[in-house]
Formats: sequence, structure tokens, C-alpha cells
Amino acid sequence: MARYDVVVVGGGISGLSLGVRAARAGRQVAVVEKSSRPGGCLYTHRTPSGFWLELGAHTCYNSYESLIELIDALNIRSKVARRIPTKLRFFDGAVLLPGNNLGALIRLLSLRELICAVPRAFGGSKEGQTIAGYYSRIVGPSNFARVLGPLLSAVPSQRADEFPADILFKSRKSRRKDYPRSFTLSGGLTTVVEAMSECPGVTVLRGKGAVRVSHGNGQFSVTLDGGELLQAPLLGLAVPPSEAATLLAAFNPGIATAVSQIREVCVESVGVVVRCEEVKLPVSMFIVPLKGGFHSAVSRDSIPDPARRSFTFHFSAGGRLDERLQIVSRVLGADSRSFEEIVENMTRLPAPTLGHQALIQQIDSQLLGTSLAITGNWFDGLAIEDCVRRSEREWKRLEAL
Ligand SMILES: Cc1cc2nc3c(=O)[nH]c(=O)nc-3n(C[C@H](O)[C@H](O)[C@H](O)COP(=O)(O)OP(=O)(O)OC[C@H]3O[C@@H](n4cnc5c(N)ncnc54)[C@H](O)[C@@H]3O)c2cc1C
Repeated sequence: MARYDVVVVGGGISGLSLGVRAARAGRQVAVVEKSSRPGGCLYTHRTPSGFWLELGAHTCYNSYESLIELIDALNIRSKVARRIPTKLRFFDGAVLLPGNNLGALIRLLSLRELICAVPRAFGGSKEGQTIAGYYSRIVGPSNFARVLGPLLSAVPSQRADEFPADILFKSRKSRRKDYPRSFTLSGGLTTVVEAMSECPGVTVLRGKGAVRVSHGNGQFSVTLDGGELLQAPLLGLAVPPSEAATLLAAFNPGIATAVSQIREVCVESVGVVVRCEEVKLPVSMFIVPLKGGFHSAVSRDSIPDPARRSFTFHFSAGGRLDERLQIVSRVLGADSRSFEEIVENMTRLPAPTLGHQALIQQIDSQLLGTSLAITGNWFDGLAIEDCVRRSEREWKRLEAL
């Protein structure tokens, strides 16, 4: 049996940032990660030629103050790389439509419906409303179904119609002006994961899933899938809700019941690498399909490469690779035989519905006074910054016990 001050289950940005916080406060921390690759939704695929592409998260902003504080503390600021601005483009199922950003969006909306919706557009509260309900009222139901709904679903890579309306866009008040407005790191966002994994005091146990947690005599005991046992007085859970509910059921059924009500979806991503001459599309795009079997696609040229380009497409679970590659070929206007590499990944994301915030409040009130921290992208929001902030708050709570 191995003893630590803190055991964290889940080695995505939430778990690692919780682990780093604890280690910076002088604790010995084990971060247990089921996959052989820590990072979860932060997954940079690197090719032998030095080219890289993101299969999950791709962009950080200078409003991500907690993440930036972490980047500074980990001494990797020199690796921060400015992204060239991404242009929003729409794909109609056959071709990429002309126009970028807001101009392209406005061109697609029916003006007549928009004008009819104007009297209802102002003064409505987002509270208690779904995204579909709230935004249909503002732009009109058909405009929402045809254009705005697909756009808002592209952001979380899943159908977002039933999300609570107040969950998607966060206005983060302040910005770190000494950082680029939109950035990544050289070598991709996995560079942050690597730096966190190497933080003194943090031991990342890869390829070892936690299968059982128990609590007794002031200690948590975490059993890993190889039978190994870890013990610590403080525990962090930083796994998707379904996994958290299963682990919690054995030692805190009250919280497990609340957590099990949080829905989640699988996002399946396909990244392709092509030589620049094979694709004629404009650089640095975020593509939203109005029709066409995927949720969104992101091009990697925000950090340009002289020889290669790549594009990552995000799909709902359950499709076939050959069918997905046909879609990718159609959007790129390139034969799939020209793809130098094809990489796949699956991640789980929360799919919050109305009442989500009440569930989170219920979970938080049950956590008060316990030596258990729960963190993840299902608390404050999906963005990396929301995860880091949640972990920061949870660590402060544990540290103060
Ligand atoms: C396609 C995509 C694009 C995105 N783009 C952006 C973006 O550009 N900017 C942004 O800010 N955010 C973006 N996000 C959101 C953000 O990346 C995620 O919300 C965030 O990284 C989630 O981190 P997490 O640690 O909470 O969860 P995860 O990353 O899901 O990590 C959970 C970890 O727990 C592990 N695990 C599960 N069960 C166990 C177990 N029993 N034992 C041990 N380990 C276990 C998993 O293997 C995983 O590594 C994107 C997300 C996706 C999917």
C-alpha cells in the first residue's frame, strides 16, 4: 500500500490542476489516470516530423487568469504561442459558404423572422430557459433551428438545445494584457499537461483506473484496477460524472445520487493531416455545419506550418470511420487518400439540462466539511479556465479543514 497526503482520481486538467495546487502547498500527491495518456480532453497528437494537432481543446484566452497563474508557476510562459484569429465559417452540407464571422451569420438568418422576433427579443431572462427556448425567442424558431442552434451546438461539440441558457457564455471580466488574447503553447496544449505531470510533489500513475474508493479512520483507500492500494487523508475526484457516481456510491451514496443525475455524452473526434497543397480552403477556420453529420471542425493553422495542415472534426458517438472520412473529404475538398495521418479520440462531456445548477448546489452543500474534493467540467462550465478555477476553490476548501 502506498501512502500520500492527497490522492486525485482523474488526470485531466481538473485533476492535474488540483494536484499541482496541493503539491505547491507542500503535499505529496498521487494523480491516478486510467489512460496511458494524462490530459483527458487536452490531447495533442504529435507526429514524428514535429507537426502536431489538437484532438480536443485548442484555444486558451488571456481571460483564463487561473490557468495563466498556473502557466507562470510552472515556468512554461516562454512556450506560450499566439494563435492567429480563427474565422467562423458555415458548411451547408455541400459547400463552405462565403463570408466569415458575424457577417456570415447575419447573411444566413431570415431578416423577416428576425424583425418579427424583435418585440420579444429584449428583456427576457435566461433563468429557467433552455438554449432553444431563449434564443428562439430572440432570433425566431426557424432562424434558431437552421443557423443559431447548429452554431451554439458547435461550441460544446454536442447538441446544446436543452442546455440551460445561462451556461454557455461566460463574461470573464478581466484579462491578462501581458498574454496574447488567444493562445496555445508550442507543442500544443499537452505541453501544459506535461509540465503539470512533472511538478515536484506530483506523481502521476498512468494507465491505472480507480475501481473502488472507501473511507474509514480518517483515510481514503483507493483501489486501482491492477489491485494496487493507495491511501490518503484527502481525496479529489476529477472524473466525468458517471464515473464519479460509481466511485462515490461505495462511500457517499448521498452525493452519488445527485451526481448520477448529471447527463453526459461521448464526443468522437477525427483529426486528419494533409500537405498544404492538397487543401485549398482558407486558413484558421472554425467550421459550423448547418447540415452534414458533425458538430464542428477546427483547423490547426492558427499556428501555421509551412508544409502541413490539419483539421479535427467532432462527431456524436456511434458513427463509422469510413463514413466520417467521406464527410471530412467533402468539407476539405480533398481525397481521403491524401490524408497523411488519421487520428481518432473519444472524450466525455457533460450535457447539462435545466436544474443543473440546483444539483451542483446540492453536491456542494454535501461536500462542506468533508475531506473530499470533487472537480471537473460539470461544475462551473466546460472551459479549461472553469476547470482550473473549480479545482483551485476545492483545494482551498480542503486546505482550510
Ligand atoms: C473537442 C473539445 C474541444 C474543446 N475545446 C476547448 C477549447 O478550445 N478551450 C477550452 O477552454 N475548453 C475546451 N474544451 C473543454 C475542455 O477541454 C474540457 O472541459 C476540460 O479539458 C475537461 O477537463 P476535466 O479534467 O474536467 O475532464 P477530462 O478531460 O474528461 O478528464 C477526466 C480524466 O479522468 C480520467 N478517468 C476517468 N475515469 C477514471 C478512473 N476511474 N480512474 C482514473 N482516471 C479516470 C479520464 O481518462 C480523463 O483523463 C473542449 C472540449 C472538447 C471535448
